[in-house]
Amino acid sequence: MEIQPFEKKIWLSSPTMHGEEIQFVQKAFDTNWVSTVGENINELEAGIAREIGCKYAVALASGTSAIHLAVKLAGVKQGDKVFCTDTTFAATVNPVCYEKGEPVFIDMERGSWNMDPTALEKAFEMYPETKVVIVVNLYGVPAKLDEIKRICDKNGAILIEDAAESLGATYKGAQTGTFGKYNAISFNGNKIITTSGGGMLLTDDENAAITARKWSTQSRENAPWYQHKDLGYNYRMSNILAGVGRGQLLHLKEHIAQKKAIYMRYKEGFKDLPVTMNPYDETVCEPNFWLSCMLINKDAMCEQKRSDTKASYVKESGKSCPTEILETLAKYNAEGRPIWKPMHLQEIFKDSKFVSAEGDVGADIFERGLCLPSDNKMTPEEQDIIIEIIKRCFI
Ligand SMILES: *Cc1c(COP(=O)(O)O)cnc(C)c1O
Repeated sequence: MEIQPFEKKIWLSSPTMHGEEIQFVQKAFDTNWVSTVGENINELEAGIAREIGCKYAVALASGTSAIHLAVKLAGVKQGDKVFCTDTTFAATVNPVCYEKGEPVFIDMERGSWNMDPTALEKAFEMYPETKVVIVVNLYGVPAKLDEIKRICDKNGAILIEDAAESLGATYKGAQTGTFGKYNAISFNGNKIITTSGGGMLLTDDENAAITARKWSTQSRENAPWYQHKDLGYNYRMSNILAGVGRGQLLHLKEHIAQKKAIYMRYKEGFKDLPVTMNPYDETVCEPNFWLSCMLINKDAMCEQKRSDTKASYVKESGKSCPTEILETLAKYNAEGRPIWKPMHLQEIFKDSKFVSAEGDVGADIFERGLCLPSDNKMTPEEQDIIIEIIKRCFI
């Protein structure tokens, strides 16, 4: 059977609007509350705090700004080391550099593709002066959060949880975004729910929430004129975008159910291929299944060459590689993506330290893994075609 390219592109993960969003936005327009104060902001903050089970939520312009304020709240200063998840999106780490801190990258473990607690312990032995750790829940799968929290506590370090990709995921019954002293979520366009662009800082610390709110609105002091003691930022979320978020929040659980169905369908579809899905331990966590990923067995990898800007491969019968699969998907008008390239392999961080427990797991997963089309608007029929396209790469 010949497969035709999709007429409408199948996306990796794209925004899905439902209708309530525009009603909240419309109300903001009708009442002229279109700036950085208003009911949509208050209600979105309250709604997220309720949903996640944290005391305070501060609505911001992006997840990156939330991480930046978390890094500042944690007191990171010039030259301070910060242990960071290595395989992540750069937005986890950049705010450390905004504050002139020094990121030290911690390798991943194979069970959840997240920060390896063993490597983290090793890092504390090497650099015991370190006071801040940023952990990520990659692709919506929670890291070993209780172990990581315990190691941080033991070493007197503050944990920041970057839950940008994992909103709605739980670990031992608790929502991600509650394990750190300061936590960040993102409402970027490709995340599980979106405000088009936005994020939040989550915390149980009242003073931290008050401080973050103040910093995010240019650090104005309580005075009749513009009075400033602290450095300020223009990081507050707009009441228009918060309206989008209010509508989206009504559909968080539905999006998670759709993403989970996509993951399970891939898992079933690939059961005869020499591949595995991105792993999680179902006895301790429930991911939000934001992105479905696959990993090709070592002995089923054909030769693949990747430079900083180009990728190529040598076709081999019975084998494939991420480059072949991604190129083939693109030919059929479907979007996949390589696994996030580990930070310690990025040119910008070439002089940074990298701590691992067993070789370089991040580089191995980057070499053999890829993110699959995971859009919640993809139909089961379309997904079946994606699965067939990928199967044929292994012929
Ligand atoms: C998306 C993302 C961010 C940044 O969020 P923005 O809202 O795009 O600024 C941070 N960390 C991770 C792991 C992300 O995936």
